Amino acid sequence: MPKQNDSTVARVAAEYRERLAPAIARVWEDAIDAIRLDLREWLRRLAAEVQQWTPSHFELAFGLPEHLRREADPASVSEPVKVLGRALLRGSIDLIEHEPHGSLRVTDHKTGKSRVPENTVVWGGRALQPVLYALVTEALFRKPVASGRLYYCTTDGEFTERVFPLDDGSRANAQTVLDIIDRAIEQGFLPAVPLRDACDTCDYRIVCGPHENVRVSRKRSERLADLTALRALP
Ligand code: SF4
Repeated sequence: MPKQNDSTVARVAAEYRERLAPAIARVWEDAIDAIRLDLREWLRRLAAEVQQWTPSHFELAFGLPEHLRREADPASVSEPVKVLGRALLRGSIDLIEHEPHGSLRVTDHKTGKSRVPENTVVWGGRALQPVLYALVTEALFRKPVASGRLYYCTTDGEFTERVFPLDDGSRANAQTVLDIIDRAIEQGFLPAVPLRDACDTCDYRIVCGPHENVRVSRKRSERLADLTALRALP
């Protein structure tokens, strides 16, 4: 397995080296070495639990246009998937695994550090993907889904995971989130109300400008009740 991993990394790296023509060879080689080591460790961990969780689908797309589905899992579907009887979702699921009894686990791979606390459900609306993608998988395969999962599968992310069980509580939280989003759209009220210090590290600051926090402090707080309720969700 390590040999196959290394030869795949070498092939893909050569393709991208040709395309990107990196300016400093040493920096490029160090980055590729880091990717190679991360992939080896990811594969080692995947193989270690394969008896419990066996991969069945990679890059499963739903509701995406044809050109984005060319390299997707063969079980991908062209139509969006309806969840909780109302929301039509489009996207792509990194990995679906099954356990011997047939229930499924849905994984989204992350490359950075984990900032999501443990034991959250939707993290005040900031971590919707695990629960929503678990619901998509349940609707697509009509099988029980144990959980959605964020897997920080790099040295940077310390190979940590965050698991979001799909149960009555997470369904209820997802419903509440959708209720709040629907109301905001119906009322045409989608204010920019960043969390404290969120603008400091946001890539869109160049668009919003440096004074968004000042503008937020002038907004009428009673109109923000829904947003406050959303942020209080576990
Ligand atoms: S810079 Fe703009 S997009 Fe980014 S957090 Fe602040 S208000 Fe939101």
